[in-house]
Amino acid sequence: AKERGKNNFQFYSSKLNGLSSRKMELENSLRKALEQNQLLLYYQPQVEIASGKTVGVEALIRWKHPEYGFITPNEFIPLAEETGLIVPLGKWILHQACEQNKAWQDEGFIKVPVAVNISVRQLQDDDFVSAVGNILKETGLDSKYLELEITESVMYNIERSTVILNELKKLGVKISIDDFGTGYSSLSYLKHLPIDKIKIDKSFVDDIINHSNQGAIVKTIIDMGHNLNYTVIAEGIETDVQVNFLKKHSCRIGQGYFYSRPLPVEEVSEFFK
Ligand code: C2E
Ligand code: CA
Ligand code: CA
Ligand code: CA
Repeated sequence: AKERGKNNFQFYSSKLNGLSSRKMELENSLRKALEQNQLLLYYQPQVEIASGKTVGVEALIRWKHPEYGFITPNEFIPLAEETGLIVPLGKWILHQACEQNKAWQDEGFIKVPVAVNISVRQLQDDDFVSAVGNILKETGLDSKYLELEITESVMYNIERSTVILNELKKLGVKISIDDFGTGYSSLSYLKHLPIDKIKIDKSFVDDIINHSNQGAIVKTIIDMGHNLNYTVIAEGIETDVQVNFLKKHSCRIGQGYFYSRPLPVEEVSEFFK
């Protein structure tokens, strides 16, 4: 029994070492990726459902690894959050997105907001608000063309989040709640936050075609959103059945492969035309 215990310990400790060294390796290569321009932003159009007009774009990060090819954000954003690298990485993302949106505007394309995903860790960093202010100044983008997508996890530190969100609103940026309906969120708190928009999570949009509840949750979120004066956007739309349902229930904006996949910069220009 003693033997086995010892072996078990060795097994676990080498497994743990293996895991943490893999993490460190990934963290190091992520730092390098940032320095060596392996990171880039794709943009997914957001479309007004009734008119088909493009009314926004969401920036989504991509890591083009020289050996492994594209690595998806779900694989490295959580690590960046855990290690704190999300703070410098997040600033880089914001700068890049604002600069690009300003460039499109200067090229004469229609002016629409760019939505940028913000991790809670990043939002609650001490100089987040001043960083956003500086980035807007540096890039010359009018603050009304920047939208920040945050998740319901901001509710865990509601006092601090409220202060930060109010400061961001003073800058003139828009606030959107991402993955709405999936997290811990209390409507009574939500009501007190300066929110402009809610994004119905893809899982509920999927339910429209699954007929499991005939889209009851989607209908409920749209109505609630309108009653609270939020703009409502549905994400992950893939079929015309979903579009028709959302149109019928007056959801204003849609995003998903039905309209367009996330696109590299050059192709967004084409989409705008
Ligand atoms: P998210 O913010 O909920 O983004 C939506 C995800 O769904 C994106 O995946 C997008 O490419 C994908 N998507 C869009 N339309 C459809 C559709 O019709 N069908 C399907 N199946 N998928 C669709 P992506 O780009 O892999 O991003 C995954 C997540 O990583 C994002 O989820 C977001 O939480 C995070 N993320 C991405 N970019 C950033 C970033 O710049 N900063 C931070 N902090 N997080 C990011
Ligand atoms: Ca998002
Ligand atoms: Ca989302
Ligand atoms: Ca999501």
